[in-house]
Amino acid sequence: MQPLLRLLPLLATLQALTIIEQSLHKLHRPPSANHAEVPERLESAKAALLASDVKVKDWRNAVNSTTCTVFDAVDALKLVHDVDHLREVQAMSQTGGGFDTDTYCAPGSWEAVLDGTRAWADAVALAVDDEGPAFALSRPAGHHATRTTAMGFGLVNYACAAVAKALEGGASAAVWKSKFGRATWRFTKVHAIFPHRSAVSILDWDVHHGNGVAAIFGQEPRVRYCSIHEAGGFPGTGQDESDRGALGNILNLPLPKGSGSDEYFAALRDKALPFLLDPAPDCLLVCSGYDALEPDPLATMTLQPSDFAQSVDAILARYPRTRVALGLEGGYALGENGMPEAFTETCRALVDGA
Ligand SMILES: [Zn+2]
Repeated sequence: MQPLLRLLPLLATLQALTIIEQSLHKLHRPPSANHAEVPERLESAKAALLASDVKVKDWRNAVNSTTCTVFDAVDALKLVHDVDHLREVQAMSQTGGGFDTDTYCAPGSWEAVLDGTRAWADAVALAVDDEGPAFALSRPAGHHATRTTAMGFGLVNYACAAVAKALEGGASAAVWKSKFGRATWRFTKVHAIFPHRSAVSILDWDVHHGNGVAAIFGQEPRVRYCSIHEAGGFPGTGQDESDRGALGNILNLPLPKGSGSDEYFAALRDKALPFLLDPAPDCLLVCSGYDALEPDPLATMTLQPSDFAQSVDAILARYPRTRVALGLEGGYALGENGMPEAFTETCRALVDGA
């Protein structure tokens, strides 16, 4: 066989993964040492991936993004949050403070969350442009933040801001680019013709219900949102599987406390993926929390790191990996079988799974 032909199977199995890191996350520091939401979360996830044999094609720092500037990030946040809420976060970031006992704001938190927003916006943009998979490595988790409130550690809702920005730009199955010099025009007409076509599906496998995402996109027909979470857990919403929201674009999948691989995989395969991927959206965003892992201190589920690789495989078996974006939500166990390991296994599956 010719040398080039021998390389073809190898080239076919090695996939490109982009990591977009929130470089300024360390500015967001808790007021006390015993808080679960600490900078070590992101640093340990990054260290685990770098120490592994997973090949990352492109490792970017969001602070250097030219496709989502600081001003673009503010505009994206304004699409999903009241301006008064953003002003409050910005003002509290001057001195430090807290919205509640969980949700702190440190000097520099505003700059940190703008950086996190840029990471998520670029990850979603890559997937919309069929250039994924991309993973936004950021903190704190944002899926609890509503239009008007910070909660559950989250000051702003990264997932919603990133998706809203993509929708405003015309996320669609057909994105045409014409480049002349430095200028880029993007023509996205599908939603002008079919305004009710679903553009983005969001899968949230954080152990907690993403009440903020459900509330913000409950009236957005171009988005489908499915959350798999622990029944009765924080924040107490999303408990009724039959409540599909006013537009039918929401699916709640609460699982009993102590659930493990079998329950999660059945919910993913039989309910979540059919709901999110049929008909196929233009982009799948995964709110990738890892607090359903067995050692996590904030929940009772019993998932293992390899379960997340299996979940990614299930997605890639029925949806193109180039249209998948992920962002880090929760996950507070940092030791053996904890979040850093599960994050790495997720990335491994994105690169060479399915
Ligand atoms: Zn969580």
